[in-house]
Amino acid sequence: MGTEKQHVPAIELWGYTSGTANLTDDHFEHLLFCIECQSLVDEFIDVLDRLPPINPGQAA
Ligand SMILES: [Zn+2]
Repeated sequence: MGTEKQHVPAIELWGYTSGTANLTDDHFEHLLFCIECQSLVDEFIDVLDRLPPINPGQAA
């Protein structure tokens, strides 16, 4: 209970990394000082780099 500091939810970090969502000021501030959350963002960036580009016009 209480106001224990929690990590930024992974889904929010994903949205931030993929550019589809913004972090709240609180979450952004947390990210600046939290190595664990930063490493998660690094992993997400790595995943995004490996994803093939979305190309709707491409038909097999
Ligand atoms: Zn954190």
